Parts: sequence; C-alpha cells; structure tokens
Amino acid sequence: MNLYSIFGDPISHSRSPLMHNTVFKTLGFRGCYTRTQLSDGNRLRELFFAKGLSGANVTVPHKEIAYALCDEVRGIAKKIQAVNTLVLENGRLIGYNTDADGFMSAIQSFGTIKNALILGAGGTARALSIALRDGGITATILNRSSGRLAYFIHEAFPTYTWDNFTVDSYDLIINTTSAGLSDNELPIPQLLLNDLLTHTKGVIDVIYGKETPFLREVKRTALPYKDGSDMLLEQGILASALFLGGTYTIDAIKVPMKYSFLL
Ligand code: NDP
Repeated sequence: MNLYSIFGDPISHSRSPLMHNTVFKTLGFRGCYTRTQLSDGNRLRELFFAKGLSGANVTVPHKEIAYALCDEVRGIAKKIQAVNTLVLENGRLIGYNTDADGFMSAIQSFGTIKNALILGAGGTARALSIALRDGGITATILNRSSGRLAYFIHEAFPTYTWDNFTVDSYDLIINTTSAGLSDNELPIPQLLLNDLLTHTKGVIDVIYGKETPFLREVKRTALPYKDGSDMLLEQGILASALFLGGTYTIDAIKVPMKYSFLL
C-alpha cells in the first residue's frame, strides 16, 4: 500500500483525499491518501518520512517551506520557489508545482487574456504570476502588506500594496489571498473592490468549496467568474500523474477525479 497525505493549516476543508482516493480506487492502484493538520511547516519533512509516505500535497501556508525542505525541485517550481506536490524517489524528496499549469488550464474558459491583477503575494500568487508570464500575460501584484513583495520585485512584476495602488483596466482579477477561507473577510477594502469590479472583464477566486465574501460581491455584477474548483481539479490531475509515476494517462486520471467532485 502506498501512502499519501496533504499537509496544511487549515486542512479540514480539503477535497484532495476524496479526489486522489477516488482515482486510486477506480484505477485499482493500492494507495491511500489522508489529510494532516500541520501548523509548524518546519516539521513537514520529518512527518513525511515518519508517516512512510510515497507522496504528498502541500497547501496554505507551507508551500514556500516545502520548497526549502526538498532534496531536489523540478520544473516550474524552481522558478516559483514554492512546492505543492512532493514525490519520494529513491529515498529523496522531489518537489513540483502543479498549481501553475492547473491554473492556466482553468482560465481557458475566459477566452483571450492579455493582462491580469493578482490579489495576494503568497505561494499561489508566485505560481500564477510565473505561469501567466510564461503564457504571455502581463501580471500585476496587489498585496495588503509589503513583506512578501520582495520575490515579485526581484522577478520584475509591477507590485503594489493597498496604500500605493491606482486602479487600471484588467482582463482578469485573480484572488489568491486566503481571505474568506476560514473568516468572513474581503481580500481588499470594499471601496477599492467596487472600483476594480468596474475595471475588469472577468474574475476568479482560487478558493473553492464555499462562497467567499469576495465572490458574493462579484456575483452582484454581470461579470463572468469562477471559483477555484477547476484549478483544484486540474492541479490534482497533474499531481496524481506524478504520484502514479506515469503509469496512467492524464485522460485515465481525469475521468475519476472529475467524478469525485460529484461525491
Ligand atoms: P499563503 O499563506 O502563502 O498567502 C496568503 C496571502 O493571502 C498573502 O498574500 C496574505 O497577505 C493574504 N491574506 C491572508 N489573509 C488576508 C486578508 N484577510 N486580507 C487580505 N489579504 C490576506 O497562501 P497560498 O498562496 O498558499 O494560498 C492562498 C489561497 O489559495 C488559499 O485560500 C488556498 O486554499 C488557495 N488555493 C487554491 C488552489 C486550488 O486548486 N483551487 C490551489 C492553491 C491554493 P500578507 O502577505 O499581507 O499576509
């Protein structure tokens, strides 16, 4: 039996165990995927090995720590410096980031996007900003505080805090903050949000499984919008393919994982 888990704080809301276990069961793969509440991210590596895991996912707020704890980081995760998928390979911890490609698949339905505003500056914002830039889309970062902006300034993204931001026009506004995940807060002040919603063609909130105060505000407009479910599905398919070591095609994984959203 191969064991997997997702690490994060909070973690009780996570749909990943259902998604991955449905894939394992449908494909006849001997695997079991659990969730692990982890407040001290520095314990991630120790717990991964203590639990005898073959792979794991990492979510808020530990993706940057996970990057630092890997023996090797592959693909776009190297540029992002944040890891959401861990795979054990010959006793070594290999880190990947499937959020980036998963997000790009999820926003296909918005049509052509030339520029986007990202709310938040955490691990997810890093993944999305790099993915957008690699896809030829200009990304601007807006965060409530300046502490986490250093990475984006170093990567030459236009970066702002609430204090020095002036509204421009965007094809897409993306909420990557955890505001609304386990509280009732908006990711930006109400007046600024009202203004922004008249300067965008579409909106996506990467939080899934609940209607955030942010999406409630968006719903009052006629803007096209979506929550984080499609991104969750797409990043999960890519993570599952890594867990299964290339034994199954993306299409074979996609069918049961999509089905798990109906359970
Ligand atoms: P991090 O902890 O790395 O970053 C959180 C960000 O949110 C920071 O920029 C922080 O700002 C900001 N923030 C937190 N609370 C508030 C608030 N009340 N008001 C304004 N800003 C706030 O988180 P991640 O980037 O790892 O994850 C962010 C979200 O994305 C989570 O909700 C997670 O569930 C979701 N997610 C969804 C995925 C999907 O597949 N749908 C995939 C990945 C993530 P500051 O720097 O000022 O503290």
